[in-house]
Amino acid sequence: MLGPPGSGKGTQGELISQRYRLPRISTGDILRRAVRDKTPLGLEAEAMMNRGVLVSDEIVLGIIRQRIAADDCRPGYVLDGFPRTVRQAEALETLETDRPERALELRVDLPELVKRLSARLVCSRCSAVYNLLVEPPRQAGVCDACGGPLIRRKDDEPQVIAERLNVYRKEAEPLREFYTSRNAYFAVDSQGSAQDVFGRVSAYLDGILTGVAGRTGEARG
Ligand code: AMP
Repeated sequence: MLGPPGSGKGTQGELISQRYRLPRISTGDILRRAVRDKTPLGLEAEAMMNRGVLVSDEIVLGIIRQRIAADDCRPGYVLDGFPRTVRQAEALETLETDRPERALELRVDLPELVKRLSARLVCSRCSAVYNLLVEPPRQAGVCDACGGPLIRRKDDEPQVIAERLNVYRKEAEPLREFYTSRNAYFAVDSQGSAQDVFGRVSAYLDGILTGVAGRTGEARG
């Protein structure tokens, strides 16, 4: 899944994971866990993440290589936040030769993204995502799913949000071209409720699974 920060990759990835029984792999979640646990990987990635810039391709490729080799990934998987660069996309192609990737980009306009990111809270224990405007937790500051404490991500501070959106804008176009040239790029309007967006996402995925979907295109809301 491609899409700027705040476009709903985590939420839609989770819905895809549940409906199609595929593991969701979020490089951001894996990195945040490593930072929290102060592993060598986390210590290396932390400064970059706090600034809102990308960590090295070597780090994320190491994570992906190891994760997609696990048994539960045999039927397929949903990648959330990876690939972020053409170099990562090329590396993924060589790691996964049996099944070609499909890229699904979630599109949201800028004012809406800033609004969503500023209102976002995440569970520090299970990574569930909440939005104070549209999807607040039942009890303030507490995760509905696991009871863990909700926090604002360090990189959801306004200056860092701006940097992350810049990084995305720079990397997104080459990635779109990369997957379009492989006839494997699809864009979905990710504005509206999570369920509305998932309606568009699942219509596309169902089309792939039944073999009737075009390989490249766009679904507007
Ligand atoms: P996310 O949760 O996907 O927004 O990722 C949070 C941060 O983790 C990003 O701002 C990057 O610093 C880092 N990160 C996550 N995925 C990648 C990736 N594929 N390549 C490089 N850095 C990444």
